[in-house]
Order: sequence, then structure tokens, then C-alpha cells
Amino acid sequence: CADAAMYHAKSMGRSNYQFYSHDLGSKASEYIAIGTSLRQALRNNEFVLHFQPQMDLLTGKLLGAEALLRWHHPLHGLLPPDDFIGVAEESGLIVEIGEWVLENAFNAIVELNRLRDDKLTVAINLSARQFLYNDLLAAVSRLLEKTGCLPAWVKLEIRESLLLEENPDVMAVLNAFKAMGITIAIDDFCTGYSALSYLGQFPVRQVKIDRLFMQDVVQQQDRAELVNAIIRIAQALHLELVAEGVESASQLAFLREKGCTMAQGFFLGKPMLLEELKQLRPELLGIA
Ligand code: C2E
Ligand code: MG
Ligand code: MG
Ligand code: MG
Repeated sequence: CADAAMYHAKSMGRSNYQFYSHDLGSKASEYIAIGTSLRQALRNNEFVLHFQPQMDLLTGKLLGAEALLRWHHPLHGLLPPDDFIGVAEESGLIVEIGEWVLENAFNAIVELNRLRDDKLTVAINLSARQFLYNDLLAAVSRLLEKTGCLPAWVKLEIRESLLLEENPDVMAVLNAFKAMGITIAIDDFCTGYSALSYLGQFPVRQVKIDRLFMQDVVQQQDRAELVNAIIRIAQALHLELVAEGVESASQLAFLREKGCTMAQGFFLGKPMLLEELKQLRPELLGIA
């Protein structure tokens, strides 16, 4: 995936600290200020989860949703994770925030599935930092029990870089999740520098194609070949594949033609509140 990763890095220009990067001079103090208000945000319940539908492209059915964190900041309004996850990670607060996310995502899927015969899944993003604490496994087990959420309803999304860390605990924790029946997914697949040889050693069941690969996939031949190659890699490794960032009918048609069977993106549904997700009528999307 090295070529794909380079391609990705060039097109991305990651802007992690958007809302306080205007003035580099005040960066440190704003950084501390965000850290302090993140703590308050937890106490004051200022976080909210949005849920983005994940669809089965063969049947047109809703499979589940990815939980995406937002912060209702009292002054700055609704902030996307890229504005504060970095600070949360570096301050260690991501552990507490991450547990808040787990508990609320579990509650949401329990509520959704209560009324359904076809059970949905919830995908939850984990930071590498959450693995540094041995009690991630304990926290997940405890919160599953507390909420009544079944492991089969849970997908945990990690970055490929986590697999390269020389941390034997990561492997043990991932194996334990798998043994419980939780699905492990690799987020932003092929955007890092991890070697494919690593993948087979880990209990990974699913990979997600980053939305930047989907841009211009219909217009640009090299982009199309790249995505096609990623799809074939996933198939060769017997991994489930979810395409992110599907914004048009033509991208969707491309994916279906190439044999990618799961997708999420603005064309299929933007991240939405749980109440909206409950009322979603996937058949109206006409992708079946
Ligand atoms: P991600 O996990 O790769 O999530 C997908 C991102 O793409 C989301 O951005 C989503 O809103 C956006 N997206 C989905 N479909 C489309 C589309 O069709 N077009 C475009 N332009 N964008 C689309 P969001 O919500 O801003 O999240 C950004 C990143 O923040 C996530 O990337 C994830 O890495 C991280 N994140 C989100 N929630 C959490 C969390 O609870 N914990 C941790 N540790 N990280 C989180
Ligand atoms: Mg994700
Ligand atoms: Mg992703
Ligand atoms: Mg992504």
C-alpha cells in the first residue's frame, strides 16, 4: 500500500488543529484551554454521537452505522472530531472520552435493535492511545454488560499503524475482542505505511477504504485502478470491505461493478442523530 499511502498523504494535508491554528503564537495556551474545556465537556455532557448509515450494496439494506463524535462547544458550536481528538489523545483524556463513546454507542445500538429482527451493528473508532491502558478490554466488557449490548453488534475501528506498534498487548486485546465476537476493522486502509504481511497476523475481519481514494474515482483512471486494486487485495485476504465517502450514484455503480459490497457516504446518508437513523428508510435510496 505504500504508493497508495503517498498518494493519500499528498492529497490530504491533514488539518488536525483547525480552530486554534490561526495564530501559532497562542497555540500552546489554546491547547491547554482546549484540554481544560474537554474535561468540562465530559462533565457537562457536551459530547454527542452522530451515526452514519452503512449499507449493503447487494440488497440495499441498512447494515448499521458508524458512531462519529462531535462536541457541542458552548462558544464554537458543533465541532468535528478533527478539531479536538488530537488534544484529547495527547492529554490522555481520550481514555475517558473513549469510554463515553463506547457506552453511548452501545446504548444506541441496543435501542435500535430492540425493535428490529435484522440486527444492526455499530462501528466505533478507537485511538491507539486507548490501547496503552490495559483496561480497554475490561472497559469494553463492563460497558457491554452494563448496556446489554451484544458483542456481535459491535465493530471496533482501528488504524493500521496500531498494528505496527511494538506492543504485545495490542495483539492480546484484539484477540480477546475477536474471541468475544466483536469485529475488528481497519480504518483508512492503505493510507498508512503498514505492510500487508502484518495484516494476516491480526484478527482483522474488515477494512475500510478511505474516502480520499473515492474522490474522482469515476473521472480519473489512475484513481479507479487504485481503488480496484484495494478491492482485490481485500478479496484476496478474505476481508470484508467497506467503502467510505460515497457521494454519488456513479461512485456507487463503480463500487458495485468492482465487487465492493458495503459502503457509507453522503450519497447514502450523512452522519445523523439516533432519532433520524431510527426513521431512515433505506429502500428509498433505490440502491437495491
Ligand atoms: P473516519 O473514522 O474515517 O470517519 C469518516 C469521516 O468521513 C467522518 O468525518 C464522516 O463524517 C466523513 N464522511 C463520511 N462520508 C462522507 C462523504 O461522503 N463525504 C465526505 N466529504 N466526508 C464523509 P468526521 O465525523 O469529521 O470524523 C473524522 C475522524 O475523526 C474519523 O474518521 C475518526 O478517525 C475520528 N473520530 C470520529 N469519532 C471518533 C471517536 O469517537 N473516537 C476517536 N478516537 N476518533 C473518532
Ligand atoms: Mg472510522
Ligand atoms: Mg475511515
Ligand atoms: Mg477516513
